[in-house]
Amino acid sequence: MAGRNSGASRRWVRGDPWEQSATVFKGKDGQCYYPQPKTGPLPGQSPRDLSSGKLSPADKPVAHAHSHIKGDDFSAQDKKLADGPPPLPEYILGPGGDMRVYDPRQDPPINKPIGKL
Ligand SMILES: [Zn+2]
Repeated sequence: MAGRNSGASRRWVRGDPWEQSATVFKGKDGQCYYPQPKTGPLPGQSPRDLSSGKLSPADKPVAHAHSHIKGDDFSAQDKKLADGPPPLPEYILGPGGDMRVYDPRQDPPINKPIGKL
């Protein structure tokens, strides 16, 4: 069905950016990859889908990433989801191109900038 949210490639809707997200998977060969990022039902929401888009059913999620249309830091919800289960590093890309990682597998969790796109 062609709806206004049907295309993951639709990053911009009526001039406004939409949040996108993708899971990073690791294949049997040790290589990591991610499927086409997805958008959610609203501009500032994207799905946390840890299973769709795998190249092989045995591939495991090793990280998750999403963009923000507002704010350069993780929301409480972002951290809660990253904390798991399963605990997975979460990456965000802020509206100005700032990238940040939150890794709940560290104690205390890592939450730091990692560069600018
Ligand atoms: Zn977020």
